Amino acid sequence: MKIFTKTKNLIEYISQFRNKQIGFVPTMGALHNGHISLIKRSVQENDITIVSIFVNPTQFLENEDFDKYPKKIEADKKVCNFAGVDILFIPSKEEIYFKDELSIVAPKTKGFILEGYHRPGHFNGVLQVVLKLLNITKANKAYFGKKDAQQLYLVKKMVNELFLPTDIIECEIIRDENGLALSSRNDYLTSSEKERATKISRSLKNAAKLISNGEKSSKKIKEKIKNELQDIKIEYVEIVDRDFNIQNEIAIGDSIILIAAFVGITRLIDNIWI
Ligand code: AMP
Repeated sequence: MKIFTKTKNLIEYISQFRNKQIGFVPTMGALHNGHISLIKRSVQENDITIVSIFVNPTQFLENEDFDKYPKKIEADKKVCNFAGVDILFIPSKEEIYFKDELSIVAPKTKGFILEGYHRPGHFNGVLQVVLKLLNITKANKAYFGKKDAQQLYLVKKMVNELFLPTDIIECEIIRDENGLALSSRNDYLTSSEKERATKISRSLKNAAKLISNGEKSSKKIKEKIKNELQDIKIEYVEIVDRDFNIQNEIAIGDSIILIAAFVGITRLIDNIWI
């Protein structure tokens, strides 16, 4: 596995793979089995797999956890090597951003509802860095988790609307044995908080069961979820279609139930695709 920290060197190295199929997995590190599932899929489907580890400052708000975001760089290198990664890119902020640079603005509506409403500007930063990384890696395929459903939707929208040549591959959510969606931020949870956090995924599963038994009302499903999560500080529970329009009536094959909630001071997101 080759490791690069300089963008210029990476671009030069990649130029020899013009005739190869390149898969790319962008991450912020502190890798867990969720990331590994994306990486393994890329290794399987491509000649060359590139993984990036970059805690992107522009997608964090002032009061968020940028400074304390978990870092496990040595363990991450081992994980990548073991998973069959060919190229690991670990740039500094200066390797990615320029002074007074032009910027991408997320779509006015879909980029500023739900996650984008509670974290205003977050998706501007996400799209800015993803566009740069897709251009640097010249990936044929890039792998994103459904865990970050709105991010996945907006990245696909950007790729479509800016006519980028990369295929965006959607990957399933990986959970621990208790159903908790894996996240680097789970490292912040105490063991009792972790137990409480499992209620989030359980409530989503219960909602899916109600829906498969015929419930169609988004209002009723949202009420049920809020009832189950009374000891968790919910930021939002919402049901959208696959284009992120708020949905009043659930449609099997076209609905996503989304939750953002604080367990202690840790903000978690989870969702289920119906
Ligand atoms: P992050 O390092 O949190 O920015 O995540 C990097 C990529 O891994 C994103 O595409 C995430 O959606 C994906 N990812 C994170 N957690 C999971 C998970 N539990 N299951 C599947 N994909 C995930």
